[in-house]
Amino acid sequence: MEVKKDLLSLEFDELKRYLTEELSESAFRATQIAKWITLGADFSEMSDIPLKLREKLEERAYLAYPEVAAKYVSKIDGTVKFLFRMKDGECVESVVMEYEHGKSICLSTQAGCRMGCKFCASTIGGRRRDLSASEILGEIIVASRECGFKISGIVLMGIGEPFDNYDNVIKFLRLVNSPKGLNIGYRHISLSTCGVVSGIYKLIEEDMPLTLSISLHAHDDETRSALMPINNKYPIDTLLKACVQWFDKTSRRISFEYTLISGKNDTDEDAKALSVLLKKYFGKRPFHVNLIPVNPVKETGFSSGGSAYARAFAEELKKHGVNATVRRTLGADISASCGQLRLKSEKKEQN
Ligand code: SAH
Repeated sequence: MEVKKDLLSLEFDELKRYLTEELSESAFRATQIAKWITLGADFSEMSDIPLKLREKLEERAYLAYPEVAAKYVSKIDGTVKFLFRMKDGECVESVVMEYEHGKSICLSTQAGCRMGCKFCASTIGGRRRDLSASEILGEIIVASRECGFKISGIVLMGIGEPFDNYDNVIKFLRLVNSPKGLNIGYRHISLSTCGVVSGIYKLIEEDMPLTLSISLHAHDDETRSALMPINNKYPIDTLLKACVQWFDKTSRRISFEYTLISGKNDTDEDAKALSVLLKKYFGKRPFHVNLIPVNPVKETGFSSGGSAYARAFAEELKKHGVNATVRRTLGADISASCGQLRLKSEKKEQN
């Protein structure tokens, strides 16, 4: 039996070739279908496509839109959180947020995660599987359709480690950047990694001017390894050298994520040591530190000193010449930080 064609995984030229060579259709149908895909339309809704072709597509191809398993809208700030169910039943989360400059979405790249960071909900059940490029694309298409507006920015900070699913993530980035697709510029995309250094060096070669975010969370190897097992493979020295390379090769400023956890990494001395460390590697090169009071996850037992404490930490960093901001908390009433919803849905299924 012929395997159905995953249309969302095709770049525009591939879609054109598929339609002309395999379905013996005219090339201009590709433009029409590509347009419909950006709107999240099913074949049955593609009203300018002849019925015969729609039926043929139904038979021989599919659209990897995820199903909306749950949707929560924050009453505080309008943040929308989705639990998406993929065709095989795996669930992931995406969050749509509003900023001054437009709407952004936080996307998942894997169902689960195997990085094992001690404070993170997404990694508790391990990694179930990678998402395909079309499934990641499906998250943003369906979220945009559900919300009724265009999404102009992307952060790859949902469930999963993007560099642990490197090829699919790169393919997704090309698809979402395509002028005949959603046409989102690389400058409006951030990719966050827990520090998979091999991925940083590979990404340097891709010529994609996106923003790289590094989840640093500690300034010494002992603390970082205790919080993030990846640090055993790629310790801080290896990681920061790669970050400097990234800046020198791409001229794109790096953003360091630093989660504040009481009793682990959040004293004035920590702020000072963090600034000394980063300045040692970066010298006069620009970089930014984003502070996040740790989100309490029932299973981890970590807590934070709250946002006032985080602001004081930011002040301390500034005193030592480091640019820092405290991440705005969005969707606090809908547990908008990732991993928690998926975890809940899995537990429900087991009961
Ligand atoms: N795997 C990637 C992207 C997903 S995690 C990475 O590690 O960067 C997105 C961000 O949320 C990371 O900075 C991660 O360290 C942080 N994070 C995870 N759990 C958190 C929690 N409970 N509280 C605050 N930040 C958390």
